[in-house]
Amino acid sequence: MARRKLIAGNWKMNGHLDHLRELHGIEKAARAHPQVDVAICPPATLIAAAVARVPGLAMGAQDCHSADKGAHTGCLAAPMLREAGAQYVIVGHSERRADQGETDEDVCGKAEAAHRHGLMAIVCVGETEEERDESRAEAVVTGQIAGSVPRDASADWLVVAYEPVWAIGTGRVPTLDDVSAMHAAIRSKLAETIGEEAQGVRILYGGSMNGDNAADLLAVPNVDGGLVGGASLSADKFVPIVEAGA
Ligand code: PGA
Repeated sequence: MARRKLIAGNWKMNGHLDHLRELHGIEKAARAHPQVDVAICPPATLIAAAVARVPGLAMGAQDCHSADKGAHTGCLAAPMLREAGAQYVIVGHSERRADQGETDEDVCGKAEAAHRHGLMAIVCVGETEEERDESRAEAVVTGQIAGSVPRDASADWLVVAYEPVWAIGTGRVPTLDDVSAMHAAIRSKLAETIGEEAQGVRILYGGSMNGDNAADLLAVPNVDGGLVGGASLSADKFVPIVEAGA
């Protein structure tokens, strides 16, 4: 099945208003390659300003709460992000699973909230280095899929991102064979979890993706795009990845 590639940038806790200037070059590349979906997930405080500045570029958030409103000081609800102009939301990033103790069940609830409010949910999974060394990577990741993906998910609103924790921000990437094996395992676990819809779900690779390795990674079967951290912070570094996806 043909799946449109998605190249999504995750700015994490980086960037202020002046950083939005980088979005012009990224928007230009997105317009030049309409066969690829491109999105940037800046800090939530910047989403509305980013949409005003580059209305042609899709924006996303980096987390949402599973509830639509309520007594959750400091949290952001999916309808708030939608109102700010977000079209995507990353949920279950390994940094949140580690720092905020998010469980698969939490992540599943967040993905459901995203869907209720018309956001595309990018559900992140990935093993630690220790888990890979112990040959448990596939079991861990497929377990995360089973626990984090809502049973009623469809390709219209679910994206999965495979991000080995040890590859994030380290400059290390798995071999293409390892990426291929993991993405195939994720696809088959998705099929068990949500049935036929699994064939249309984009599975992104994330972890030290850059302009030099993107073309190879994006050519691997079942790699339907990238979730890019460090290299999404500047147009100079991000645009070559968009081009590699085209
Ligand atoms: P990185 O981060 O590209 O800087 O490795 C990816 C991510 O955490 O989404």
